Amino acid sequence: MSEFKADLHCHSTFSDGSDAPDQLIVLAKTLELQGLSITDHDTIAAYERALPVAQAAQLLLLPGVEFSAVHRNEPVHVLGYAFHLGHPAIHQFCERHQRRRLERNARMLSNLRKLGFHVSEEELYQEQTGTIGRPHIALLLVKKEIVSSVKEAFHRYLGEGKPAYDPGEGIRVEETIACIHAAQGKAVLAHPHLLQRSSTIRDMLAMPFDGIEGYYAKMTAEQERRWIEIGIKKGWLVTGGSDYHGVVKPQIPLGCSWTGNETFQMLYEHYCTQSSL
Ligand code: AMP
Ligand code: ZN
Ligand code: FE
Ligand code: FE
Repeated sequence: MSEFKADLHCHSTFSDGSDAPDQLIVLAKTLELQGLSITDHDTIAAYERALPVAQAAQLLLLPGVEFSAVHRNEPVHVLGYAFHLGHPAIHQFCERHQRRRLERNARMLSNLRKLGFHVSEEELYQEQTGTIGRPHIALLLVKKEIVSSVKEAFHRYLGEGKPAYDPGEGIRVEETIACIHAAQGKAVLAHPHLLQRSSTIRDMLAMPFDGIEGYYAKMTAEQERRWIEIGIKKGWLVTGGSDYHGVVKPQIPLGCSWTGNETFQMLYEHYCTQSSL
């Protein structure tokens, strides 16, 4: 039996990943991962399909989501785990995010049209399911040969402060944590090394998170040590995940960062007990 590994951060075709939920499960089994959480941006839609597939494959699938929150204008990603999948609080919150994104996408497309590019909502939403955001707009710009790469699309038009960027309605971190807790889940601060301001880091460490992502594909060993130490000091869960997106980010393979047995079992048992209530 190989070492217990559970990748608790990856994206499916229900947000900006290139693998469908079934493919993620097959890939996790091939890589001999024992556990997985699909953490799509602002949606839990993958689970309807993924749960029975994982069960048949004997893979431990932990409910998860990655919410886009804001703290004093700085983006903060919040992972939610082990919540009750049928809880109305989490469904309503995902719906609110979808409305926020529809309005924001419309403004960003309008900004692009003002710049002289012919991009329509029909083109953006064609053949797409789940959460649609800037990566999808970037791909549309590539497809229409307005730019030559997703990177260029962000650099010229869609990145923060660039001419087509729109921040959208800001949903606060406090509210996000409260929603995850209302749905009986655990709130985990995602990829903390990406936080820009020291005041944001300070404020996040004072919030009622249950955990921090201390193992992450793109962290250096030194960064991991720092965040793991902070997590342990706070008595938080320390989780790990790759942030796999499939061919969209080919340099990051599934399972290259993971959560070990003890932390995973704590989360999984929490999910099993509360979901049978
Ligand atoms: P959104 O949630 O719609 O604001 O889009 C954010 C997502 O866009 C992030 O999760 C990244 O995956 C992606 N992204 C952000 N900045 C860049 C960039 N400079 N190049 C490529 N992808 C990016
Ligand atoms: Zn993503
Ligand atoms: Fe993220
Ligand atoms: Fe992510």
